[in-house]
Amino acid sequence: MTKNNIGRIIIVGAGPGGLTLARILQLKGFEVKIYERESHIDVRSQGGTLDLHVHSGQYALKTAELFEDFQAVCRPEGQDTRIIGKSGTIYYEEVVPDKNYDRPEIDRRDLRQILLKSLKKDTVIQGHNLLDIQSISNGQHKLTFDNGVTDVADLVIGADGAWSRVRHLVSKEKPQYCGATMIEAQFTEVDDRHPEISKLTGRGTMFALSDNKGLFAQRNGGNQIRVYITLRVPENWIIESGIDFDQPQQVRTHLLELFSDWDNSLLNLIQVCDDNFIPRPLYMLPINQKWETQQGVTLLGDAAHLMCPFAGEGVNLAMLDATELALAITNSTDLTQSIHEYEQKMFSRAAESSEESLTNLDLFISPDDSAKKVCEWFKKMMEGALQNNNENSVTA
Ligand SMILES: Cc1cc2nc3c(=O)[nH]c(=O)nc-3n(C[C@H](O)[C@H](O)[C@H](O)COP(=O)(O)OP(=O)(O)OC[C@H]3O[C@@H](n4cnc5c(N)ncnc54)[C@H](O)[C@@H]3O)c2cc1C
Repeated sequence: MTKNNIGRIIIVGAGPGGLTLARILQLKGFEVKIYERESHIDVRSQGGTLDLHVHSGQYALKTAELFEDFQAVCRPEGQDTRIIGKSGTIYYEEVVPDKNYDRPEIDRRDLRQILLKSLKKDTVIQGHNLLDIQSISNGQHKLTFDNGVTDVADLVIGADGAWSRVRHLVSKEKPQYCGATMIEAQFTEVDDRHPEISKLTGRGTMFALSDNKGLFAQRNGGNQIRVYITLRVPENWIIESGIDFDQPQQVRTHLLELFSDWDNSLLNLIQVCDDNFIPRPLYMLPINQKWETQQGVTLLGDAAHLMCPFAGEGVNLAMLDATELALAITNSTDLTQSIHEYEQKMFSRAAESSEESLTNLDLFISPDDSAKKVCEWFKKMMEGALQNNNENSVTA
């Protein structure tokens, strides 16, 4: 199949998955357009930091010929981990050696910038919120946007995240609540304004865990720290709690009550953070979500397999999906068959990670002294990783 007879390729969503797909397809000589809902990359908070793994996120960037750009801005030291009990006792501390590139961190905004800049001019059409997509004939689909614009695609890829509007073409599944809600808070200019928070967090991530709750503090680039205050609460807690999330003082008072028996050093994460709290209830698609391959349409990333963020795999899988799909399209002699093969591999790796993320959620946000359990889990994981490394170096 030549590049021309695939026809018009449209990606919906300029997240890490959609951008990676567009980049690799362009490198392979394809014409591609992305429609993106947001009018600008900075229009809303881009979220925090992401760790990119060797065989998925990093592999995608190598295939996209952007690995050096990534290395220039990533933070290998961001892999440091600290686990603390609610009394403030440190149970576990891992400081990664210099130049360890297993899972370096990068701010989501920086990652998107690298990918965006690599695309041909006018690839991303911003400010286009997909309202509706319908199949017409011969595998073509008609897309309708909220500004009245319409377009027709021969191949459409839904990379439009958790609440995908493309998903209904392949699956009837809808995201279900995971059982936990995060409230995102932030410290800007943290080293100067809050050196004690800077010290508590360290260079990477600090988890304080107990009693079905968690305070996760993560160092981001640009002298910032993000905090995820995590609670095991019902789906409609945000409304039922009566908290007005636009009133920071009200949010603080309520949260401080919930954590009232935690050490003051940890409560500072709520007490002195910036005046902006963003509630994020966590959703996931069914673990074994699958569908029959449809002509002219497929999904990748969160649109295909949304999971809770406790395996640290979401962005990595989105970028790996994008890479494998781009290569499947490039090498295709029968596009529907190539998409089918891509989907089968995606289903199986997504199911594994989704299951892991749910198991980890139950471990981290569990009753009693969950910090101790998580500490044992981290130690075992590190021993396993060390053993693997040793075996690899023996067999190499
Ligand atoms: C609090 C939190 C922490 C996380 N931490 C990690 C982590 O440490 N590591 C990790 O690997 N993953 C993490 N994740 C998950 C990760 O963010 C996602 O898995 C990843 O962003 C998925 O990428 P994507 O490209 O599939 O979708 P997204 O990043 O969601 O991008 C979708 C894009 O589509 C656009 N869009 C949506 N609807 C429309 C529409 N109707 N029309 C047009 N455009 C549309 C959106 O604006 C967006 O730009 C975390 C998630 C959360 C919520």
